[in-house]
Amino acid sequence: MADLVISAPAPVLVPVAGGGFFPVRRVYCVGRNYAEHVREMGNDLREPPFFFSKPADAVVTDGASIAYPPQTADFHHEIELVVAIGRDGIDIAEREALDHVFGYAAGLDMTRRDLQTEAKKAGRPWTMAKGFDQSAPIGTIAPASVIGHPSRGAITLSVNGGERQRGDLAEQIWSVPETIAFLSRLVTLRAGDLIMTGTPSGVGAVRPRDVLEGVIEGVGAVSTVIA
Ligand code: MN
Repeated sequence: MADLVISAPAPVLVPVAGGGFFPVRRVYCVGRNYAEHVREMGNDLREPPFFFSKPADAVVTDGASIAYPPQTADFHHEIELVVAIGRDGIDIAEREALDHVFGYAAGLDMTRRDLQTEAKKAGRPWTMAKGFDQSAPIGTIAPASVIGHPSRGAITLSVNGGERQRGDLAEQIWSVPETIAFLSRLVTLRAGDLIMTGTPSGVGAVRPRDVLEGVIEGVGAVSTVIA
């Protein structure tokens, strides 16, 4: 046992449907993966996928409340399909990509939109717009061995019971196999990694005491309350 000079961080664990926990290693996110959302943000549809990340300890489990974060007046929801990687791989072929998937969950890529807009204008990183404390509520992970590999199905988000976002997984510009293949050419994917695969249109601001409920047909749900 190494002689640690400070205590090691506790593992970040996401519950798995049917029992057990998925230990989170890293969180990668795809930008702009649904055409309607690309249009609402005023961007070009034809560019290749790009990625940003959140620290693993930004993950919050289903049902927990999250703090309204500091340094923003425009705190946005983005409902996303989350892929949980179960097997290491580099340069993964599209046809083998799904063999690396342990399961799927619904997740929220919470965003300080005003900081993101400033970063875009200045050509600066999105890290502080995307990778802040409690910025990644993740629902229970459904194993692919139980639900298969969903490539279609409604993805929705409601705030205080009113629907804000609606799309279909079939509308993703880059499919899950394409995303895994592309990302694994940039980094070695590791068991424990989560990939948030982009959000449909309808993103918007939330306020303290709002209740967010995301549902992905055939996958599961995620909910949180803004404290
Ligand atoms: Mn997103």
